[in-house]
Amino acid sequence: MDEIKDNLVKIRDLINKACDKVQRNPEEVTLVAVTKTLPGDIIKIAYDCGVKLVGENKVQELVDKKEQLADLPISWHFIGHLQTNKVKFIVDKVAMIHSVDRLKLAGEISRECEKKNTTADILVQVNISGENSKFGVQADEAIKLISAIAQLKHINVKGLMTMAPYTENPEEVRYVFAGLKELAEKVRQEKNPGVEMKELSMGMTNDFQVAIEEGATLIRVGSGIFGERQYN
Ligand SMILES: *Cc1c(COP(=O)(O)O)cnc(C)c1O
Repeated sequence: MDEIKDNLVKIRDLINKACDKVQRNPEEVTLVAVTKTLPGDIIKIAYDCGVKLVGENKVQELVDKKEQLADLPISWHFIGHLQTNKVKFIVDKVAMIHSVDRLKLAGEISRECEKKNTTADILVQVNISGENSKFGVQADEAIKLISAIAQLKHINVKGLMTMAPYTENPEEVRYVFAGLKELAEKVRQEKNPGVEMKELSMGMTNDFQVAIEEGATLIRVGSGIFGERQYN
């Protein structure tokens, strides 16, 4: 309990400092607490420490934990790779999907939303670095993809998401965050209906301060809050 609380205090302080440095309002930056692999009782503790928004990267895990914690007013974000055949399990359970990187997936999200009489808020995941990730649309294909997604009725594109390669020195990936912001500007100029470039989901434990300096509005922090993850 105390460890999570202390970590959250530290992270909020670092968010404020990063905002100060570039004269941003800290209210523009939302912390997504990444709770993948962690049990529900830990999420409850985080909730009691002020966490209202959590990120999960596996469909089954998200569904199970959301059900287990149904009485807590937590907002669930899906941040992991999403298979088309699993869309139906989460479209009406999440506030945002961060990881839409292909038209087929977007089409399925729109179809499932139509069935459930809802709309989905999504981010388009972009592979800015071009490195070591199979996921995310390439930057030079993103505008075309977003224009196509804009045609889908039951989807609102709220912004972009990226993952930077892991480095010891986050300055080395500053260009990734700057690149995502620059791309968002280009997308904005397309003026696609149903497409807003309000959110930039970028920055994790290791690099969120640099991401904030470059304009992040959603930072996804896991181990910085909860400690190193244990994988079975
Ligand atoms: C696990 C994960 C994070 C959080 O990573 P940490 O380094 O633990 O902060 C952020 N984004 C995505 C997509 C993740 O899968």
